[in-house]
Amino acid sequence: MGFGKDRGNRRGQHGAHADLVAESNQEASASSHSSLPTAQSSQSARSTPLSVDIETLPGVGPRRSAVLRARQIATLADALMHLPYRYEDLRRRDEVTTLRAGTTAVVEGALQNVADRAMPGRWSRRMATAFLRQSSGKGIRVVWFNLRSGNLPAGEPLVLSGRVTSAPNGTLELVHPEIYRLRDGAAPAIRPIYSLPAEISQRLFTSMIGQALQHGSRAGLDAIPPELRKGGKLCDVIEALRYLHTPPADASLEQLQAGATVAHRALALDEMFTFQLALARERSRLRTRAGAALAGQARLTSELRASLPFALTASQLRAIDEISAELAGPSQMNRILLGDVSSGKTLVAFYAALRAVDSGWQAAIMAPTELLAEQHFANFNRMCGRLGITAALLTGRVGTSERARLLRALRRGEIPVAFGTHALIQEGVAMRRLGIAIIDEQHRFGVFDRARLMALGSQANVLLMTATPIPRSLALALFRNLNVSSLDELPPGRTAVTTEVVGEDALAAVDASVRAELERGRRAYYVLPLIEGEQDDPDSVVAAARRLAAGPLKEFAIGMLHGRMRPAEKDQVMRAFRDGAVQVLVSTTVVEVGIDVPQATIIVIVAAERYGLAQLHQLRGRVGRGADASRCCLIVSSQAGPQARARVERLAQCKSGAEVAELDLQMRGPGDLFGARQTGALPLRFARFIRDFALIEQAGDLAQEWLQHDPELAAAEASGARNALARMLDFGFSLGDVG
Ligand code: ADP
Ligand code: MG
Repeated sequence: MGFGKDRGNRRGQHGAHADLVAESNQEASASSHSSLPTAQSSQSARSTPLSVDIETLPGVGPRRSAVLRARQIATLADALMHLPYRYEDLRRRDEVTTLRAGTTAVVEGALQNVADRAMPGRWSRRMATAFLRQSSGKGIRVVWFNLRSGNLPAGEPLVLSGRVTSAPNGTLELVHPEIYRLRDGAAPAIRPIYSLPAEISQRLFTSMIGQALQHGSRAGLDAIPPELRKGGKLCDVIEALRYLHTPPADASLEQLQAGATVAHRALALDEMFTFQLALARERSRLRTRAGAALAGQARLTSELRASLPFALTASQLRAIDEISAELAGPSQMNRILLGDVSSGKTLVAFYAALRAVDSGWQAAIMAPTELLAEQHFANFNRMCGRLGITAALLTGRVGTSERARLLRALRRGEIPVAFGTHALIQEGVAMRRLGIAIIDEQHRFGVFDRARLMALGSQANVLLMTATPIPRSLALALFRNLNVSSLDELPPGRTAVTTEVVGEDALAAVDASVRAELERGRRAYYVLPLIEGEQDDPDSVVAAARRLAAGPLKEFAIGMLHGRMRPAEKDQVMRAFRDGAVQVLVSTTVVEVGIDVPQATIIVIVAAERYGLAQLHQLRGRVGRGADASRCCLIVSSQAGPQARARVERLAQCKSGAEVAELDLQMRGPGDLFGARQTGALPLRFARFIRDFALIEQAGDLAQEWLQHDPELAAAEASGARNALARMLDFGFSLGDVG
């Protein structure tokens, strides 16, 4: 989830590399090598509470503490919450004869021939060298930077773990390895590796963790109170942290790496509990907040309904009823509308906007891209223009004088409905009587954007909309602070998109199908994972566009779309595609949001195995928007394994977002229900929605139980939950929003 494995890894690799350099700048001593720091630094820290500022710890100081603080690590307790991003297995033993440069090795033996040298090229720096001899008699040269040989424990049994490199003369060396003395029995079985900034060594951080663990016993890190910890089935937070920072010798490396231990679950549950408490309190607070009561005569909404060329679906009717009923009340509405791509959310939004206008209030509708805002504005004018309602469109494309005119009219309340992008929440925008703020594709916005939109009217009701496929049960738990409406059917008459999964060898046939569609006057998308690749990587937008233009589709206009283009350029290409001047759009996933080009009838997704299931479903939703039958071709790379292909094939069988969500949930994949941006917005560090789905409900029940005894959360504020609770509440729950 929020602390995605990928991100951690990348940072971690960098950290581990830089670490070596950083350590070479310190005076390392053999004693700090020699054992796990828990045993070593206990004396000085006996009275250290977990709330102690890290700056006061030995070896930290102002410079390093500033670096750590920038990573939200200010106290020992914070350090404890920073989990290892991977583990090294020190239970294995490598034979020096089988080592290869560029790998890490764990070797056992004794040091001989320890000596000091000047570091080549840097005469002021010293290094220690030694020869590690295994019991077999074979050995390897070892070097340590900035370490005096006198500090090395020569002659006694050791385990060294470190990187193998190739010296200039071609022999292998072990560079700056960790030393574990077997005599102490101190070699850990599994060593945690942290993702850290360059200034902080693994050793220093491990020592901080050691101090924290010494003093963290029952120190109130837990949010879940002991009364709710039924029958001791849940381990407490400090025990969970101890397990993850200093795993026992019999721990499963795979489970640790995968975040699948009981300890992970305990942390996730505790965090979810806090999250649910925060949501529940937020909900009760929002319930009492005054909102514009939109209870006027339903004149415009009836007229709109009478003028529609189609009947509303049952889900649309239900959502409209739910929304209208809540809007009519005196407290602020905070509701999220969930609905699969093309389920007709826009029309529900228009209804809600017209309820405001009917009642003498204004409405604002914000969308994440100019194109989408324009699309909504055009649709609104088409559907509601004849009802005599003026709407404004505020985007970055609006000129200065036109903008000034629109702003004046909005401020005076002369324009009842405003559409726009971020331009709606810029300085200088004000609305006289904002009765409802609607946010389309809400997960594309940050919490502050939403706050700013709501700041346009203190009594504004809020309607969020999203097509993120999410099972209703999960949505109810996740959006506990909001009311939820969902559209669970598509309007009738849609032709289902035929989805096929093919291998790379079928590319020519796929191009031919695209060609056939284009020849019938239709349009096509190609989606690729990269913008441009090395040596014409066929998975790149640039290479694919060149390939198609050179042969298979050379008579057709081909446009490119990717995230590195300026917004104005992107817009121009999208517009050309919408209007037909461009017939083939070769794009990265930037195309996935909300765009409605009904003439597009085929989408080709290259290297489909690289995408999340929800993302594939969103992409597929770009076609099948008109009356014509549409196709989605998922091309699986030849190097993709059978599992990856099976996953794509299962997606192909899912027709609806709900099915995709269920599938995602079953597979417990990398949590791709939520895009990185969305999860980044959640103040959660341990819980992962998909993996921990069952926990969310359990946590919700526990939170409910707590609330019955402590509705004001006075006790929660005084407990271990305090910090986490504050973090979650601060994070923008007051915006009636979690995601
Ligand atoms: P989304 O939920 O993805 O935002 P839209 O609101 O863009 O979907 O709707 C997709 C298309 O379906 C639009 O062209 C819209 O006019 C049409 N539509 C909406 N409701 C109905 C309905 N009840 N019957 C037929 N078509 C509908
Ligand atoms: Mg939409």
